[in-house]
Amino acid sequence: MEKVVIIGSGCAGLTAALYAARANLKPLVLTGKQPGGLLTTTTIVENYPGFPEGIDGYELMTRLQKQAERFGARVQFGTVEAVEFSKEPFTLIVDDEKVETETVIIASGAGHRHLGLESEHKLENKGVTYCATCDGALPIFRNKPVVVVGGGDSACEEAMFLTRFASLVYLIHRRDTLRASKIMIERTFAHAKIKPVWNSIVTEVLDVKSDKVVGVRIKNVKTGEESVNDCAGVFVAIGHIPNTQIFKGMIDMDEAGYIIPKRGSATNVPGVFVAGVCADKTYRQAVTAAGLGCAAAMDAERYLAARNE
Ligand code: NAP
Repeated sequence: MEKVVIIGSGCAGLTAALYAARANLKPLVLTGKQPGGLLTTTTIVENYPGFPEGIDGYELMTRLQKQAERFGARVQFGTVEAVEFSKEPFTLIVDDEKVETETVIIASGAGHRHLGLESEHKLENKGVTYCATCDGALPIFRNKPVVVVGGGDSACEEAMFLTRFASLVYLIHRRDTLRASKIMIERTFAHAKIKPVWNSIVTEVLDVKSDKVVGVRIKNVKTGEESVNDCAGVFVAIGHIPNTQIFKGMIDMDEAGYIIPKRGSATNVPGVFVAGVCADKTYRQAVTAAGLGCAAAMDAERYLAARNE
């Protein structure tokens, strides 16, 4: 039986693993489908303390994993399919295998929000993508116009990244001001290849019949006017949805699916703790996720110590 199982291997999960490992708890980290979490799809992380020149997201997560493993954390590729928190020990079903544990730290992060269009779904990976860093350099986007949807830091970052490959980047946003941080807005607007399209939403990705992206139909939400922009790719960067569906009905969460901690990192189930973006819709930074991971590991350690007394 495990003492601590950590669900998720992003900043929160691996920092929890580092602290739990140093407390001699030999934590088992279940990576989920994307080992290292969403940060591995970022190019340069410029706001993680201690790296004045910035650090590649993948490298940061690789280093963090090595650091946790150095103290005894075990990182296992696997996706948790179901959990049973109503009796102890807790049970997790991981790729059809049963794992029993005294405590759980949920650090399952968040996935990309979709526009919810049928054409978007049908053309996913055929020109529609959610990660410029992963797909932006593909030949189909080279020297062609592309579209980024969204108005936050992610959208700006994706747009900036795509200027390396695309001939033009349309930044389509549903309002007339960006939500992104000031520094990102300044960089985005200063780039000659980025063309903002304000007050507009994508209503259809074209063209499902030809099975590839050739453009987007957009609607101006102020005037109702519709138009078509030719493009070879659509990069959707409209935020995230917490990966908490499997805990529904067991762990308290808000209507958007963010877990609501009771006190510190404790959830409504004693012995189940939470850390990172799956419980944080306010800050959502790598460094805050790491801090919350640390807190959850300390809370789990104290819980186990109190039980064994
Ligand atoms: P976000 O800040 O939540 O922004 C999402 C954007 O998508 C908003 O502009 C929103 O429009 C738009 N949007 C949401 N749903 C939409 C829909 N259905 N259709 C069209 N547009 C929609 O998400 P994010 O940009 O992914 O950033 C998440 C967090 O990570 C933030 O805290 C951000 O600071 C951080 N981050 C930081 C960096 C960095 O510092 N380098 C990079 C990436 C992310 P409205 O503005 O109208 O709501």
